[in-house]
Amino acid sequence: MCGIVGIVDAGGVSIQLYYALYALQHRGQESAGISTFDGSNLHKFKGNGLVADVFSPPVLSDLKGTAGIGHVRYPTTGANLPENIQPLNFQFQERFISIAHNGNLVNTGELRAEYEQAGQIFTTTTDTEIIAKILIDAISNSGSVEDAVSICMHKLVGSYSVVILIDGVLYGFRDPLGIKPFCIGKTEHGYMVASESVAVDALSAKFLRDVKPGELVRIDSEGVRCMQIAVAGKCAHCIFEYIYFARADAVIDGVLVYDVRRQIGKKLFEEDPVKADSVGAVPDSGTAYAIGYAEGSKIPFVESLMKNRYMGRTFIMPTQKERERAVRIKLNPIKAHLKDKSVVLVDDSIVRGTTSKRIIEMMRDAGAREVHMRIGSPAIKAPCYLGVDMPTREELIASNRVEEEVRRSITATSLHHISIEALIEAIGFDRENLCTGCLTGCYPLPIDGEHAKPCHVDFVDGTYQAKLGSFEA
Ligand code: AMP
Repeated sequence: MCGIVGIVDAGGVSIQLYYALYALQHRGQESAGISTFDGSNLHKFKGNGLVADVFSPPVLSDLKGTAGIGHVRYPTTGANLPENIQPLNFQFQERFISIAHNGNLVNTGELRAEYEQAGQIFTTTTDTEIIAKILIDAISNSGSVEDAVSICMHKLVGSYSVVILIDGVLYGFRDPLGIKPFCIGKTEHGYMVASESVAVDALSAKFLRDVKPGELVRIDSEGVRCMQIAVAGKCAHCIFEYIYFARADAVIDGVLVYDVRRQIGKKLFEEDPVKADSVGAVPDSGTAYAIGYAEGSKIPFVESLMKNRYMGRTFIMPTQKERERAVRIKLNPIKAHLKDKSVVLVDDSIVRGTTSKRIIEMMRDAGAREVHMRIGSPAIKAPCYLGVDMPTREELIASNRVEEEVRRSITATSLHHISIEALIEAIGFDRENLCTGCLTGCYPLPIDGEHAKPCHVDFVDGTYQAKLGSFEA
């Protein structure tokens, strides 16, 4: 989970990169960074914190140039160390290279060992540096970035949407299974790629299309060209992007996230109807689901929890006690809406169960008679190895408990998770084209100690140069 963006625009890129990262802030709050190229030099700035805290007007005006990339980080691989903040920047054969990555590799250890044995040194603990090393090594051997990306796709196992700036040329590529989202837009004087369409919207740019799984996009001052490097037998779009991670107004692989959530809300009512005085959401992640539930059930949507929008994420607090206290500060129940009421409370997911338990306690303290919990995802049973920060099986409340045990543990009057079938129907893809690892424990790639159903990937080796064509939206 991270957000990435790359822009080439004759009008300058730093402000646009800044606003694009702002729009992607929900994808990572730990750190933010931008690198730009001005025709002869690479300018870079990065730091810990939110986009608005890291960058100031003087910093942005120093980020000169008409090509650049940016990143917001939510750590999955690699500790919270200053050297792990992206983009990572390198100088090689008089070329400046900057790289940023969203996703998570599962063969980091082997790749790192392979490159260390060949004499390479690493200065970070991120998997992104491995991608950079493979690319740079391959470029030095073949000279062609297209070949280097192909070699990368042969070697990397995991999820990856990547932006690379090589001097003034921007490259973006997406893993052959299309696990993490990635899209292309047209800015006023150029083109962009970004993790989510909301970054394109934020710049008043024109959304063109998603980057295809296994595709490489090359953008320079002349325009954009795309080529297919690898073709897999299926996709494995991350189901959790639709459930929780992406912004509700994002369109990912042709599907509006808000509509998926609203549709699931309706199905939650159909699957397990209940009589209640009102339907409310755990804001903001449960809102679109709750609106769907209210529509389906004809029970009025009434907000009964107010969110303090200036509070950071509770999920990432290190200890259970801190997480519990943080929930109370983040959410305040509206007593007048709860006293003696029976309410349906809708949220996107239960992970450890801390949030739901604490919220239900608060609602009961505020006078609620019944709290019927409805959840927009099926029970989360297994960890994610492909980019979503999910705890271990031991910490996941539903990994070894049936729904009734989870209900008791969070003290809800009733509990229902959406079925996998209804979730998949709401997204609208075939099941084989979605990664459901966190729900089923079956992954689309080989992962040590886990059950997997990997699929075959064909490479367009040797001939793909010929396929380099003009961009078609
Ligand atoms: P909990 O059950 O207390 O661990 O937290 C679950 C809540 O955290 C859900 O309702 C989501 O809104 C949110 N959430 C779920 N997955 C993640 C994640 N990977 N990172 C941050 N927040 C998450």
